[in-house]
Amino acid sequence: MIRNILLATTLAVSAPALAAGPVLDTPVQDDWWQGGRAALDARLKVVNRPKRAKNVILMVGDGMGVTTITAARIFDGQHPIDGRKPGPGEENSLAWDRMANTALVKTYNTNAQVADSAGTASAFNTGVKTRIGVINMGQNQGAEACKTPEKLPRTFAEIARAQGLAVGIVSTARITHATPAAVFGHVPKRDWEGADRAYPMADRASGCADLATQLVNFKGGVEVVLGGGGARFLPVGKGGVRDDGRNLVSEWQQRWPTGQYVADAKGLRALSAASTGPVLGLFTADHLSFEHDRKDDAEPGLPELARFAVAKLAAGTKARGGKGYYLMIEGGRIDHAHHASNPYRALKEAQTFSVAVAEVLKMVNLDETLVLVTADHSHVLTMAGYPERGNDILGYIKPARDGEGGGPISKEGWALDDRGQPMTTLSYANGPFLAPQLSRQLPPTDPNYLASKTFGTGSESHGGEDVALFAEGPRADLVRGVMEQNLIFHIMAEALGWR
Ligand SMILES: [Mg+2]
Ligand SMILES: [Zn+2]
Repeated sequence: MIRNILLATTLAVSAPALAAGPVLDTPVQDDWWQGGRAALDARLKVVNRPKRAKNVILMVGDGMGVTTITAARIFDGQHPIDGRKPGPGEENSLAWDRMANTALVKTYNTNAQVADSAGTASAFNTGVKTRIGVINMGQNQGAEACKTPEKLPRTFAEIARAQGLAVGIVSTARITHATPAAVFGHVPKRDWEGADRAYPMADRASGCADLATQLVNFKGGVEVVLGGGGARFLPVGKGGVRDDGRNLVSEWQQRWPTGQYVADAKGLRALSAASTGPVLGLFTADHLSFEHDRKDDAEPGLPELARFAVAKLAAGTKARGGKGYYLMIEGGRIDHAHHASNPYRALKEAQTFSVAVAEVLKMVNLDETLVLVTADHSHVLTMAGYPERGNDILGYIKPARDGEGGGPISKEGWALDDRGQPMTTLSYANGPFLAPQLSRQLPPTDPNYLASKTFGTGSESHGGEDVALFAEGPRADLVRGVMEQNLIFHIMAEALGWR
């Protein structure tokens, strides 16, 4: 009786009293039941965040579709890299799995059902969708629009910088590649990264500056640039591919006398995040290495780059009179490994991207920083065939005994297809048939194994289904339901109080 009165009093203070409902009772209350109840209790605790953010961090796993997330989660559980014990994998969580707000995002471009990184990154950087291959131009704008820059869609970074916020860009791809370029640049063709063969002379008459030039000339400057693609900044004969003789690194150094340019891991590690002046780090001529192939004394990995960028942007807040920052961090090579139909490297890249997200979440105050994690588009990776729980995600399918399927089984216990071949859990809808002769002699768990595919194409392609968006921080509550990709821009703007 006394207990009931106490309970009633407590409820009256904290929440409207709930009418007593039926008792939840079932004979099986095992670990799954207890885990489910604990997860429910965690969700019933309301976290009230402030409605305004000071900083926005957008983290993009290029090509990290939902199948990639699931497979990478299992891969990370089976091959943990931080001292955790390996497990079956399915129960594991990646860094964003614990973020409270999630949405499905429609990725199509205005003229393409299956999108590319240029059109999709334009959507979340400008708030408007555009055509495939186009970076930050309206859907009806072409090269002629370079002559009237004031009529181009404005990027989140351009608006942020004009308001006194700092901007940071981190990528494991070339910094002029579509995703990072969409933070700062405007071109009708994503290939116009530098003054080289990919930007034909005839096209240059349009007056559109190449993306490397646009980065160096970004109005107000970019506080932290860390990535690959140095060759687009340097002339032929000086380690670069530019045919216009310009050395954009020198031009950047002249523009920013207090700036620091670094070209290797040692250079980055010698920098203090607290020092004033912008940082330009171009660590490779082309993309950074895949994490599997990276030499740590030569090249920093994505988690280290992310840590430095957050520390640097946060350290500059005081000098900006309290103004925050916009930082885009891209795990850019999940996509590249998929295009090669190489699941191991794709999952390793996604796992590393998750480590970078975890590091960022550790460093920021989520009451003042909105953190978003998403992909620009998916890939045609599928996960199939009723493998048993804990089956190596890269391996051949060992069927769950009482699962469906019911086909023939090899003496090793592998499920066989109609031709008597063992099947892998992961395969692609398309990709190179001819290139991977080598791969046929490798076990599917080998890092260089190229997975099987249905259609033979030069390169495995993007997938067109929705991608996931995860969010935590001020106005993360707006991330829910099914949404168009350009809404990401508007949510970020709302979090910063832009109207
Ligand atoms: Mg990209
Ligand atoms: Zn791609």
